[in-house]
Amino acid sequence: IFIVFEGVDGSGKTTQLNLLNKYLIQKQIPTYTTREPGGTPVGEKIRELLLDPNFSEMQGRTEALLYAAARAQLVAQVIRPRLEQGRVVLCDRYIDSSLAYQGYGRGMDTGFLASINELATGGLWPNLTILLDIPPREGLVRSRKDRPADRLENESLEFYQRVRNGYLALARRNPEAYLVLDARRSIEELHTVICGVVGGLICV
Ligand code: C5P
Ligand code: MG
Repeated sequence: IFIVFEGVDGSGKTTQLNLLNKYLIQKQIPTYTTREPGGTPVGEKIRELLLDPNFSEMQGRTEALLYAAARAQLVAQVIRPRLEQGRVVLCDRYIDSSLAYQGYGRGMDTGFLASINELATGGLWPNLTILLDIPPREGLVRSRKDRPADRLENESLEFYQRVRNGYLALARRNPEAYLVLDARRSIEELHTVICGVVGGLICV
């Protein structure tokens, strides 16, 4: 089973992913956790390039293809093999991040993005996407507290607003594959809801 956490910066994806992982391990369920962009040595190099504030000249298509390249590596080297071993794979961001940030956020053609990602992943889509929804202003306050500046440092609030609305649009398009949660709820409350839904999915 393949579970993805999505949401704008500062929505709490990493926190909830780690808590869910602990819960599953405690239930003796074999898991594997990873993140995007990155998750492999090749992918982490691509991540460095993508987030480097010195590359402001990077073109939209270049960026989108680099995200897809890192994802291709992650799926082939890590995600597919772990799923075949019967593990529950938990991933911090996936294709929806590209659709939301590069598509809805930067205005790239979502058809182009969907096709390069279909090619990159061989059509591997998550069984469940947990969307942590938060007004971007609140997310950014949370995320800028505890991390270094990256290439998105100067993006406007409107950009993140489009990203958020993009995520919500993706979830509405395919509601049975999404769990949309208000990320302003407490960490414990969110964790409880997530464990309930994931527990139902994998019958623990
Ligand atoms: O998830 P994390 O906070 O590690 O993401 C790193 C950075 O990459 C963030 O600034 C995020 O907004 C950005 N990003 C992006 N487009 C994607 C995925 C991530 O701009 N498709
Ligand atoms: Mg994070």
